[in-house]
Amino acid sequence: MSTVESSTKYIFVTGGVTSSLGKGIISASLAKLLQARGYTATIQKLDPYINIDPGTLNPYEHGECYVTEDGAETDLDLGHYERFLNVPTSQANNVTTGRIYQSVIEKERRGDYLGETVQVIPHITDEIKHCIKLLGEGNKYDFVITEIGGTVGDIESLPYVEAIRQLRWELGNRCVVIHLTLVPYLAAAKELKTKPTQHSVKTMQEYGVQPDILVCRTERHLNEGIRSKIALFCNVSKEAVIESIDTDSIYKVPLLMKEEKLDLQVLKKTKMSPNCMPDLHKWELFLNRLQNPKSTVKIALVGKYVELMDAYKSIIESLIHAGTSNECKVDLKMVHSEHLEKPDGLQLLDDVSGVLVAPGFGERGIEGKIKAIEYARTNNIPFFGICLGMQCASIEFARNVLKLNDAHSTEVMPDSPHPIIDIMEEQKKIDLKGGTMRLGAYKCELEEGSKVAAIYHTPEISERHRHRYEFNTHYLKAFEENDMKASGKNPDTGLVEIIELESHPWFVGVQFHPEYKSTVAEPHPLFVNFVKAAMEFNASKK
Ligand code: GLN
Repeated sequence: MSTVESSTKYIFVTGGVTSSLGKGIISASLAKLLQARGYTATIQKLDPYINIDPGTLNPYEHGECYVTEDGAETDLDLGHYERFLNVPTSQANNVTTGRIYQSVIEKERRGDYLGETVQVIPHITDEIKHCIKLLGEGNKYDFVITEIGGTVGDIESLPYVEAIRQLRWELGNRCVVIHLTLVPYLAAAKELKTKPTQHSVKTMQEYGVQPDILVCRTERHLNEGIRSKIALFCNVSKEAVIESIDTDSIYKVPLLMKEEKLDLQVLKKTKMSPNCMPDLHKWELFLNRLQNPKSTVKIALVGKYVELMDAYKSIIESLIHAGTSNECKVDLKMVHSEHLEKPDGLQLLDDVSGVLVAPGFGERGIEGKIKAIEYARTNNIPFFGICLGMQCASIEFARNVLKLNDAHSTEVMPDSPHPIIDIMEEQKKIDLKGGTMRLGAYKCELEEGSKVAAIYHTPEISERHRHRYEFNTHYLKAFEENDMKASGKNPDTGLVEIIELESHPWFVGVQFHPEYKSTVAEPHPLFVNFVKAAMEFNASKK
């Protein structure tokens, strides 16, 4: 039996019946409640797929790839964790089966297991346990919440459930298992059904894990009878049957979980003191503003994955934070960039007061993005370009203002006569695709007197990156002579990080991803100011 010196408590969140029950939001909400009681908490996601990280996954597969300060490409749930807790996460907060196996295989090659047969149990499960306990080292956190991706019963989740079983055995009441299930409402029977929950808990029990708390996702309230039934058949106390009712905003979930006393159940099971009532004063203020907007503004989000809201999760949440700051509801219009390429495509932007062009890779839809930018530039509509959006704004400006025909990014047109956006020098020698972009936080110096300097209220910022291409400084002089200023640059390399059009009411392109840093407690200043500009544009139309 291994001994662990820290007194950190470990909370495991598993899911049953179906995916998409909101494990990430429940984990983030629980962490928020513990934080609001004065405890420190961090959340970790373990993903049972073989990719080393989600960096190479298509957004259709797995939604947005979220980037941490230390440059890890991670699951989008880490975005929720940061937005709820306002505490940065890191590589250690997201581990995949691929990474676990990679590390075990590296150890095998090094000879760490000389003489042994390397097996799923104990070697893979030990590595999983190591990754979980790593976050608890040095008593940095009172609670480490570990969310297991996927659904219990899947073949690929087995080693994770076994690792939980072992940790539970080793650490006793320093561990709590929360299992999320679905309690569906059958319209024909006019009844909520508990059987899927019973079966899912049975599956956990077969693996030797008895959940301590059940969080039941449902579209109707659970009555006392249903709660008692679930408790009796699943070996949990009635108070540990927690209702998770469908809600129109993820930001209400911490308050719903507070009402259901999820945090109190966790404190009781880990023998921790409730300290005080959770202080959610600021959270409630945010929610109140979110629910009572004084106005509405329509903003277009132009991208090529618009059918899938998860692909632009952090941008959408940042716009919600920014709208709330401005006491305004952002009515988001998802605009497919390929649809803008049709002859009358620009009509899609007729009714919007702001245009945000999203990040992305590759050729598909790029001309539509460029058309949207020209439309916003020439009609004085507030424009915000993020990463590829900033690169497209540079291309548009080169083509239509500087009259440089065939200006392009070498990502799309390698032999462009005017490579306005070009591969970064250090990227030229890189062949491997995984984890090799310019990733994570870099400093950026803001030009005195620029719009962005006034927005950020500071001469130097730090923002997160995820790209291979950059603005080609060979063209900077021509840009600046024609009103497009490089108002943010990397102080060490001189890379252009921000462009802004001086004579336009609000035209800003950023090479970094500000959306990764917007939180409920600190909405991102660029988003807040962009929404404000869109509101002003909207007012000027009337
Ligand atoms: N494809 C572009 C690059 O690699 C932009 C990346 C992005 O938008 N995140 O530079």
